[in-house]
Amino acid sequence: KCEANYVPLTPLTFLKRASAVYADRTSIIYAETRFTWRQTYERCRRLAFSLRSLNISKNNVVSVLAPNIPAMYEMHFAVPMAGAVLNTINTRLDPKNIATILRHSEAKVFFVDYEYVPLAREALRLLMANLNDSMEAESSMPLVVVIDDVDSPTGVRLGELEYEQLVYSGDPSFVPNEIEDEWDTIALNYTSGTTSAPKGVVYSHRGAYLSTLSLILGWEMGSEPVYLWSLPMFHCNGWTFTWGVAARGGTNVCIRNTTAREIYLNIAIHKVTHMCSAPIVFNILLDAKPHERRELTNPVEILTGGAPPPAALLEKIERLGFHVVHAYGLTEATGPALVCEWRAQWNQLSSQQQAKLKARQGISVLSLANADVKDLKTMQSVPRDGKTIGEIVLRGSSIMKGYFKDENATAKAFHQGWYATGDVGVVHPDGYMEIKDRSKDVIISGGENISSVEVEAALYRHPSVLLAAVVAMPHPRWGESPCAFLTVQKNLAAAVTEADIISHCRKHLAGFMIPKKVVFMDNLPKTSTGKIQKFELRAFAKTLVVT
Ligand code: ADP
Repeated sequence: KCEANYVPLTPLTFLKRASAVYADRTSIIYAETRFTWRQTYERCRRLAFSLRSLNISKNNVVSVLAPNIPAMYEMHFAVPMAGAVLNTINTRLDPKNIATILRHSEAKVFFVDYEYVPLAREALRLLMANLNDSMEAESSMPLVVVIDDVDSPTGVRLGELEYEQLVYSGDPSFVPNEIEDEWDTIALNYTSGTTSAPKGVVYSHRGAYLSTLSLILGWEMGSEPVYLWSLPMFHCNGWTFTWGVAARGGTNVCIRNTTAREIYLNIAIHKVTHMCSAPIVFNILLDAKPHERRELTNPVEILTGGAPPPAALLEKIERLGFHVVHAYGLTEATGPALVCEWRAQWNQLSSQQQAKLKARQGISVLSLANADVKDLKTMQSVPRDGKTIGEIVLRGSSIMKGYFKDENATAKAFHQGWYATGDVGVVHPDGYMEIKDRSKDVIISGGENISSVEVEAALYRHPSVLLAAVVAMPHPRWGESPCAFLTVQKNLAAAVTEADIISHCRKHLAGFMIPKKVVFMDNLPKTSTGKIQKFELRAFAKTLVVT
């Protein structure tokens, strides 16, 4: 190691470089608003200064609840520039989950987009109510900053402070210190995981830097892309492209809502070259009404992942002029960990064969030392025969530092240094991996994770439910949706209907988590030790049709 030459790895260097090299190039487009890279760098430094003035320092958590707006992008740089840790929160969560995250992360500041003020207000009320005494309440409540619309301010307020006010009151000559250590924490992202308690995934500056670079390479993203923000930035920091677009001197096209109209319109106006999305967005684009559609005048590269994209869907979306690259990842791996890199020898194949190859999850990104499919009991690799099933395991710099304040869960996640994903698959003779199933109890609906445990907990709050098990069932639009299997009290069995259960869930769960189907059973299948056999229920759920 050469001490004199040691510079900690951090994606913050991407912004500094962009402002020097691409100073006058447009960094952000949002409706009528435009910024250049010089302005973005200055705005981030000002905000970092203001955060420091609010006594935000190293390792303090700054949470944010916002859609894909310029402020959300800027905070990916400004918060770590202040030495703090960025915690982006999924806007689809309910107030209870948001309150849990704010409490667990000990958030010092909470930025809230004006549109999410009612949701945040309720989350803050629950947070306050759950704190034990007034002393704890005083020190544990975050400082709230509302983000008004930069393009057309609404005047909606929550708390005393507003985002633009913080940007403008910051010192434009402020230059943040270099980070001390590349292992310092840059971000904290909560995943619903397999238990009802959300787990906080901790990323280092080093991991974020290496993941960003290797994804740019894996996707072959050239310089000066025009990148459309169709993937929420709260998903693994936009799969690292928040930092990646700065690294490539690109233009961020921010949109508040991911609708077909907005996507087609922005692609046409701004000549978008790149976007990321879960496969659900393909359905949105394919189902667009004629007046919402626009012909693509240039090919648009899409990186898709978050849920398995069926080969037939890949074929359909490519016929519209999109070019898809398939990736697989998870929060614990800072986003995409495998990319189905294209091989020249596949160019000769039919479009159907190509789509089939593309539907495989692929090979490891460069920031991983290795990715493999292993038998977790023996830790032996499965043969490359495309048939033998094992668990996808990952090792290397993209993997999280661990779960925040949860050593037990962190220790359990690793097997002899390998991160076990809970995804089950095969390796083909060419080394490409393909996922076949999931060993973890997570349902992925439209690219959003749903913890079956959390849905079950809500079902158990119904007075007549004795036993509840929730598994994934296939859904034509969402890929998967939750299906509830219930045993209810005998004397009430006749009285309780599917509609009762669903309306009960509506009171306790965010909309996307509500079961789309409820099946009543006298007995749920159990193992000899009394554990519900979810694999049997999963097999049964596959035969059901969503009505
Ligand atoms: P993300 O925010 O990227 O969706 P999550 O941690 O919420 O990450 O979800 C990760 C899980 O999503 C994976 O463990 C896997 O089960 C599923 N997943 C992600 N990408 C794919 C893919 N390309 N194909 C199949 N499943 C996928």
